[in-house]
Amino acid sequence: MKAKEFVDGLKRRFPNEPEYIQAVDEVVSSIEDTYNEHPEFERYNLLERLCIPDRIFSFRVSWVDDKGNVRNNMGYRIQHSNAIGPYKGGIRFHSSVNQSILKFLAFEQTFKNSLTTLAMGGAKGGSDFSPRGKSDMEVMRFCQAFITELWRQIGPDTDVPAGDIGVGGREVGFMYGWYKKMAREFTGTFTGKGREFGGSLIRPEATGFGNCYFLLNMLATRGIDIKGKRVAISGSGNVATFTAVKLMELGAKVVSMSDSDGSIVVADGLTEEQLQYILELKNIYRGRIREFAEKYGCEYYPGERPWHHVKCDIAMPSATQNEIDGDDAQALVDQGVIAVSEGANMPSTPDAIKVFLGARILYAPGKAANAGGVAVSGLEMAQNSQKMSWTAEEVDSRLKNIMADIHHQCELFGKEPDGFINYVKGANVAGFMKVARAMMDQGVL
Ligand code: NDP
Repeated sequence: MKAKEFVDGLKRRFPNEPEYIQAVDEVVSSIEDTYNEHPEFERYNLLERLCIPDRIFSFRVSWVDDKGNVRNNMGYRIQHSNAIGPYKGGIRFHSSVNQSILKFLAFEQTFKNSLTTLAMGGAKGGSDFSPRGKSDMEVMRFCQAFITELWRQIGPDTDVPAGDIGVGGREVGFMYGWYKKMAREFTGTFTGKGREFGGSLIRPEATGFGNCYFLLNMLATRGIDIKGKRVAISGSGNVATFTAVKLMELGAKVVSMSDSDGSIVVADGLTEEQLQYILELKNIYRGRIREFAEKYGCEYYPGERPWHHVKCDIAMPSATQNEIDGDDAQALVDQGVIAVSEGANMPSTPDAIKVFLGARILYAPGKAANAGGVAVSGLEMAQNSQKMSWTAEEVDSRLKNIMADIHHQCELFGKEPDGFINYVKGANVAGFMKVARAMMDQGVL
C-alpha cells in the first residue's frame, strides 16, 4: 500500500469531503510502514474497509419554532466501525455540520476508542441545527424530532451516542428522554446523562480532566513541573472550562479562553472568581466570552483566536477543528511553547502538525489527549449495565489510569531512536493495530 495513492483514490471518490480526507491522510501516512509489514491486511483490503464507514444515515429534521414557523435541518449518524464494540461517539449540533465533518469525527473516534482499551467502536452524528439563541422549548422540540428519526438505529448494544459541540447535558437529557419514550426501555443508550438517570460522576469533567492527565504524563517524560506554567486555552465550552478547572487545581495559570466571536487574554492568569464567572456565564446564562472582557476589563480580540496574542508555555486548543494553522503554530513555537495537548478533535492543520513535530515539542493529537471523555462514557455504560454507580474518586482514578495507559501505548509505538516521542504516530499505530486485528479475525463483513 502506498499512502499517497490510497488517499488520492479516496479523494477522487469523495471530492467534496476535505475534513474526512484530511483525517484519513494523517492516519494512513503514519501507519503506512506498519501496515506494509502485514501483507495479509492488503489481501483483505483492510485499509479501505477501515476508512469507509459501515453505514451513514441522513435525514430531514422538521420542527416548529416558538413563533409557529416550521423549520428544517439535516440530521446524520455515521456508524463507522463496530469491530471492537458497539458504535460509540458524540452528537454535534452546529451550523457548520455536514457529512464530511461527521465522517472525519467518526473515523477519528474509531481509533480513539480503540486506544481507551474499552470495548467501543466508532461513530458520530449531528445536525446543522444550532442551539445558540434558541429557547429551551425549541431545543427540546428539535431534539425530539431528531430522535424520532434516529431511535431505531441506536441502542445500548448497538450504538450509544453522547454530547459534542452544541450538545451538553440539556440536549442529551431531551434526546435520551425521547429515545426512552419511543423504545420503551430504560437502558444505557446515551452517555453524558444527568446524574439522576444513569449519568456517571466525572463524565462532564472527563475530557478536560483527561487532557490534563495526559499532559502531566507528557511533561513527566521531560521532568517538567506544571506548577506556574502559563497555559493558553481556546474555547469556553465543556472541554475548555473543565481543562481550566483542573489546570488551576494543579497550580498552572490559564491565560486565554475564547468562543466563536473572539478571544480573551488574561496575562496574569484567571483567578478562581473569574473562572467561576466563566462557568456560570457559559453553563447558566449561555453568554459570550466578550461579556467577561467587559466585566473584568481584560484584552479582547474580536473574531480572533488566542494564538498570536498570548505568551504561553503550553497550548490546549479546545474549541473546534483546524483552529491552529501553520502560522499560528509557528507563532506558538517562536514564543517558546513546550507542549500542545489537544482537547478538540483535529484542531491543528497538517501544516501546524509539521511545525510542532519539526520543533520536537511535546505534541499530543486529540485522539490520544481528549480520549478521557469517551473513556468515562465507557465507564458510564459499564455502570448502567450493572445498574450501579461508582464514586467520583473511583471514576477519576480509572480515568487517570486510562490516560496513563494511552500515554504508554503512544510511547510504545511512537518512540524514535533519539528518545523523541512522536505521539501522532504512536496513537495512530496503536489505535489501528487493535481494530485491524479484530477485523481480520471477524472475516470480510
Ligand atoms: P461546546 O459546545 O461545549 O464548546 C465548544 C466551544 O468551542 C465553544 O466555546 C464554542 O464557541 C467554540 N467553538 C465552536 N465552534 C467554533 C468555531 N467554528 N470557531 C471558534 N470557536 C468555536 O463543545 P465541547 O467543549 O464539547 O467540544 C469542544 C471540542 O472538543 C470539539 O472539537 C469536540 O469534538 C471535542 N471533544 C469533546 C468531547 C466532549 O466530551 N464534549 C470529547 C472529545 C472531544 P460558541 O459558544 O461561540 O459556539
